[in-house]
Amino acid sequence: MVDVDTVIDRYSEFAEAFPGARVQYAVKANPHPAVLRALVGAGAAFDVASPGEIDLCLKVGARPETLSYGNTIKKPADVAHAHAAGIREYTFDARCDLDNIARHAPGAQVSARLLLEGGPDSVTPFGDKFGCNVDDAVRLLVRAAETGLDPVGVSFHVGSQQLEPDAWDVAVASAAKVFSGTAEHGVTLRRLNIGGGFGISYIDTAPPMSAYADTVLSALHAHFPEPPELVCEPGRALVAEAGLIRGEVVVVSRKHPTDEHRWVYLDIGRYNGLAETENEAIAYRLVPVGEHSPEDGPVIIAGPTCDGDDVLYQRTPYRLPLSLRPGDRIDILSSGAYTASYSSVAFNGIEPLRTYCISEGRLISAE
Ligand SMILES: *Cc1c(COP(=O)(O)O)cnc(C)c1O
Repeated sequence: MVDVDTVIDRYSEFAEAFPGARVQYAVKANPHPAVLRALVGAGAAFDVASPGEIDLCLKVGARPETLSYGNTIKKPADVAHAHAAGIREYTFDARCDLDNIARHAPGAQVSARLLLEGGPDSVTPFGDKFGCNVDDAVRLLVRAAETGLDPVGVSFHVGSQQLEPDAWDVAVASAAKVFSGTAEHGVTLRRLNIGGGFGISYIDTAPPMSAYADTVLSALHAHFPEPPELVCEPGRALVAEAGLIRGEVVVVSRKHPTDEHRWVYLDIGRYNGLAETENEAIAYRLVPVGEHSPEDGPVIIAGPTCDGDDVLYQRTPYRLPLSLRPGDRIDILSSGAYTASYSSVAFNGIEPLRTYCISEGRLISAE
């Protein structure tokens, strides 16, 4: 269940924390049409990653000029589709992608995505998959100008569920080097996209939004002679706390009579929405529903499929009531981000996670 009003509250808080910034919701975090429609109504822009996400946003009423194609991995046909749909802003990190954009979206605004080195890791880091180094970013942005594109700036992403606001200070400093590097070649950049990554509280507590905003705004002040236009791309921070998944306990067992640990198997696991439990990265807060004994004990929590990797928590210490039985319900809190969108179509015949959107306490859509 997703409370769309909470999404809009988070969006408003975010827009207030970063005054003057363009807030682009990263659609992949929760692409439910009711969520997107509400964000369109609130004036949000969107970070899209594929023709499918573009079409979805346009269908719920977003204007093409509010969409930015942030995925650096796109086929020529994807760029052509985006261009035909009216998308005028793209991010790249490689020369072949840049050349595709020049060919299939002539004159478009382009930003270089920066590979971040030396900053703190997030809970679910991107590693070296995205971005190019400062020198390549400068070289490619200058090339962009030569091929008739409009080189607007730099983007980065410090890793999702980033609990260290200082990560943005390191990244903003690198971005400033790209700005001064292109200026030496007569190319003036104007826009800085500080990505997503803003954390929310699961079992571990995240810093408040104001801590992120303070760090970002003082980093801009420290590293830029003149502050650039600011773009933020929150995904998780807008939708996670709006969502709740109610799972059911299917089996409770012990592998040996003397084991203290019980195995608790739920009807939801890694493949039906809880993909972010991979490596136990995201540790959701789990709350048993209804009356239970005050005594609890350690548990290993697993999903329902016939896959050995479908174990949610084996190292993270979870405890559940000793009275827990098959048929009992368990609420998975703050689960509105990266759940329904990660749910497989029919692994082991289990249907994809259904989303029920509510607003003002009433159901507005079920899909
Ligand atoms: C996923 C993604 C985001 C959102 O990240 P969160 O950690 O959910 O805030 C923003 N920008 C890009 C390019 C992304 O791929």
